[in-house]
Parts: sequence; C-alpha cells; structure tokens
Amino acid sequence: MEELFHPFAHEDIEGAVIRVLEDEILNVNEFLAEVEQLDEGGEYEFSYTCCYLKHRGRHILVDAGFDPDTTPGALECLDVDPADVAWVLLTHADRDHVAGLLMHDGSLTYPRAQHVIGKDLWDNLSNPATLAALDDERAAFYRKLVRALDSSIQLIDGESNVVDGIRFIPSAGHRIGHAVYEFSSEGAPLVHTGDSFFHPLFAEHPDWANVTDSIPAAAVDSRRALVARLAKSHALVLSSHIPFPGMGTLKKVDDKEYEWTSMGREF
Ligand SMILES: [Zn+2]
Repeated sequence: MEELFHPFAHEDIEGAVIRVLEDEILNVNEFLAEVEQLDEGGEYEFSYTCCYLKHRGRHILVDAGFDPDTTPGALECLDVDPADVAWVLLTHADRDHVAGLLMHDGSLTYPRAQHVIGKDLWDNLSNPATLAALDDERAAFYRKLVRALDSSIQLIDGESNVVDGIRFIPSAGHRIGHAVYEFSSEGAPLVHTGDSFFHPLFAEHPDWANVTDSIPAAAVDSRRALVARLAKSHALVLSSHIPFPGMGTLKKVDDKEYEWTSMGREF
C-alpha cells in the first residue's frame, strides 16, 4: 500500500511529505517539447503531495492537498491539531494544492492559520474575468475559496520574508503568481519548490520547457534562477509531483546542467 506520509528531519526542521492523491503513472514525454522527447525510460510515478513542517516551533503547511480529510488525517498521526497550524503557505491555486483549504461545509480547514499567497495570484483569482473562463463548478469553488480566505490572507508582492526565517520567492510560469518557499535552518535551507519541476529532468535541464506550464517561457526563466540558487545553497529540495516523497538535492555540473540526487527513497 502507498505510504500516506513520509516523515523526515532536516537540521532543526521536522516535517512530513503528505500524499494527497494516489500516484499516476505518466510519461515525462507528455510534458516535453518535441525536440526533447526521450526514446525510452520516460515512464514514472507522478505523485501528489503537500508538506507539513515544524519550523522554529510553528506548525506550517506548504499547500493543503485536494480534500479536507487526507491532510488533517496525516496531521493527526503526527499529533498536530489543524487548529494549531499557524501558516498555510500556498505555491499556487490548482485544486490539488488548495481544495483541502475548505471543509465540506465551506469553512476553513485551518481556522487559525494565516494563509500566505502571492499578490499576483490572488489578484488573478479575484478577477471576475479569470472565473468567467472556468466551468461553473470550478468558478463556484474559487468564488467560495476567495470568500473564505479573505479575512486570513497575507498577500506578498515580490521576494520577501513571510516571517523571519521563511522566504517567499516568486517563481512564475507554471501558473501566474506561482511561488516557492525557503526555510532557514541551522545548516542548508529547505526549499519547497511547488510545481517548478514535474520530473527531476526539469531540475537537471532547467532550459527544457514544460509544455503544460501556463507560460512555458516564463517558467524556464524562473526555473533557471531557482536551480542555480538551490545548487548554490545546497538546499534540501521538496517538490509536489516528482516520485514520492519528492525530496532531493541539486549539484551544478556545468553552466547549463545540474545533477539531481533523490532522498528518502530507494531506487
Ligand atoms: Zn500541482
């Protein structure tokens, strides 16, 4: 059976990667442009995760998963009450990342949390024209979400600290307003990269476009800057969709390429 969550420790940070939906077997070629297609070996387990962190005594989530039961269920196993979550840091607003913010009755799953979101993303979500382009069911969901979050939202515009030790880093392209979060530790930082990499190949070759990103060229620019930063800081990297638990490190190989090493997983 698939693990529901994967606990880990990194320096003085404790955490757990939480599986929010079952893995899908996909082929990386679905994301790659014609010129980058692999001849073989492209099939892999595309996972869906969010992440719990205990950082400087605070309970934190990066994204919230797809439903209001799975993530709180994992938190319960970790002895964390959803009412004690202080921050929910959102990378972007696709439903596998945000639908878990709302209980079945429409109230907030993490009632005392500050919900952090990029200003560009929030402006886009709050724009009636964005919602008008969606089907009725989706539009209704996002309308409900924006309303529910309104009183607990912390908007961030540009790279800055959410709070001392947690940095919001804009990394647009996958979606408008997509962001990643860097957590300081006693040693190398931990960085949650959201949907920046759909496969480790995109971290190793940041110039390769993911054709399913909303703005592939912007995503390439963001990815190039991000991987350089991750390699330089020797960060522990977390990623929402690469094979579970989606943790690893990046090393610079030459000017354009990097080497990804998976962690927390036997191959
Ligand atoms: Zn995603």
